[in-house]
Amino acid sequence: MTSKFDLFVIGGGSGGVRAARYASSLGINTGIAEGSLLGGTCVNKGCIPKKLYSFASHYSEELNLMGSFGWKIDKSKFSWNKLVKNKKKELFRLNSIYQNLLENSKVKIFEDYAEFVDQNTLKVGKKYIQSKNILIAVGTKPKELNKFSNVNILSSDEAFDLKKLPKNILIMGGGYIAVEFASIFNGLGVNTSLCVRGKRILSDFDKEISQFIMQQMQEKGVKIIVEDFPQKIQLKGKSYQVFFKNKTRRYEKVMGALGRVPNISKLKIENAKIKLNLKGAIHTDDLFKTSVKNIYAIGDVIDKVQLTPVAISEAMTFVNNLKSTNKKKFNYKNIPTAVFSNPNYAFVGCSENEAKKIYKKIKVYKSQFRSLKFSMSKSKEKVLIKLITNASNDKIVGLHYVGENAAEIIQGFSVAVVNGLTKSQLDKTIGIHPTCAEELVTLKNVI
Ligand code: NDP
Repeated sequence: MTSKFDLFVIGGGSGGVRAARYASSLGINTGIAEGSLLGGTCVNKGCIPKKLYSFASHYSEELNLMGSFGWKIDKSKFSWNKLVKNKKKELFRLNSIYQNLLENSKVKIFEDYAEFVDQNTLKVGKKYIQSKNILIAVGTKPKELNKFSNVNILSSDEAFDLKKLPKNILIMGGGYIAVEFASIFNGLGVNTSLCVRGKRILSDFDKEISQFIMQQMQEKGVKIIVEDFPQKIQLKGKSYQVFFKNKTRRYEKVMGALGRVPNISKLKIENAKIKLNLKGAIHTDDLFKTSVKNIYAIGDVIDKVQLTPVAISEAMTFVNNLKSTNKKKFNYKNIPTAVFSNPNYAFVGCSENEAKKIYKKIKVYKSQFRSLKFSMSKSKEKVLIKLITNASNDKIVGLHYVGENAAEIIQGFSVAVVNGLTKSQLDKTIGIHPTCAEELVTLKNVI
C-alpha cells in the first residue's frame, strides 16, 4: 500500500522535526522518516551532549578556584561512566519530547530510512510513500581521511560513548569540534594534544581571537601542535604510533574532527536526479528548492551554515514559503555563534579580517582583563572583548567575547547588533557593576 502526503520530510533532526510539525500545524498533511533517534545530530551526537560534557569538564577548574574562596575539598573523584550514563538518560528524555511534539502535531512518523524511487515516490523500509513535496533534512556525518583508514580513528560520534577515558589523546583538526573536545578532555584530566595543518586553530575565525584562545588553552594544559599533521598512524600494541614530520608520538586514542560531509549515502538521490554542488552537498536555490521542482532541502546537508538554530529557522522559512505566494529568502547575515572551548568564545558579525575587506574604514575597540572571579586564584585566564565598527556610520559590524558565559552574553547583545546598534548607542548604556560584561558598554581604546 502507498501512503500519500502533501509534504514528506526525510530526517528527524532539528530542521526536519521543526519543518514537519510546523507544516502539520498549518494543516499540511505531513509525514516524516527517521531511521535512527529523533533529534538528529544536535540532540544525540552534537550540541546537547557536547554542552553537558563541557559543563562536566569545567568543574575541575571550579574545584581549584574554590580554594581561593576559602573552601577546602577533601576528596573529589570524577566518574566518566556516571557522566555517560546520565547523558544517555537525558538524551532519552529529549528523544521522547521530540516524538511527542511530532505526534501532538499529527505528523505521521516512519521509523526507518527513506530512499528515492523516483521524484515523487519514496521507499521507507518496506513501505512506499508518494508526496507532492519532499524535504531533505538528513544533515551530515563526520568526514574521514582515506590515509588513516588502516586504523580506528575516533569521530566525535564515538567519543561521547568511550568505554573509559584514555590517559592521553591526540585530536586532529582545529575547528569547532576539535577545539571543544580538546577542552572537554583536558578539563576531565586527559593529557590532551591537538594538531592542525595551519598556523592556528579556528582558522576561519578572527585571527587575533583564535590566537588568544590558542594561548589560553595552552595555559590550561592543552598541547597544540601547529603546521604539523600526521603523515601516518599505526596501531602498536594498545596505543597509536603517530608519525609527524620530524617526530613520532604515541597516544592511547586518536580522534579526527576534520569537518562533516553530507549524510546522503542512503538516499539513492540518483533515482530522483537531484544535483549536488562541488562539495557534494545538495544544491538548492535561495528558496531551498533543489534541481527538482517538488524536492527541497534544508539544514547542514545544503552546507550553507551548519548550525542548529539556522536549520530550525530555515525550516520555518521553507514552510511559510510553501503556504505563501510572497516567498521570502533566508538571511544568512549576522548569525551569532559560539565555540564552547575553555574559555568559551562567542561572536556576532564579522571578524576584523572580513570587516577590512567589506568596509572602507573600520574602528576596532578592545579590552583584555582578568575576571574578578579569578583575582584571588592562580588562574591566568583572561577575558578578551573585541568590537568592530564601520567608521562611516558607527554601526557595530562585529562583536567578539572570549571568557566565561560568552555565549549567554553575546546572545543578548546580538539582538541589538542585528538590528543596527551603533557604538554611540552602546556608550549610552550604563554598565551593571561588577560584571565582566559591563566592559562591553565602556570600551574606549580605539586601535
Ligand atoms: P570545521 O569545519 O569547523 O573544522 C575542520 C577542521 O579540520 C579545520 O581545522 C581544518 O583545517 C581541518 N581539516 C579539514 N580537512 C583537513 C585535512 N585534509 N587535513 C588536515 N586538516 C583538515 O569542522 P568540525 O568538524 O569541527 O565541525 C563541523 C561543523 O559542525 C562546523 O562547521 C560547525 O558549523 C558545526 N559545529 C558547530 C558547533 C557550535 O555551534 N558550537 C559545535 C560543533 C560543530 P583548516 O583550518 O586548515 O582548514
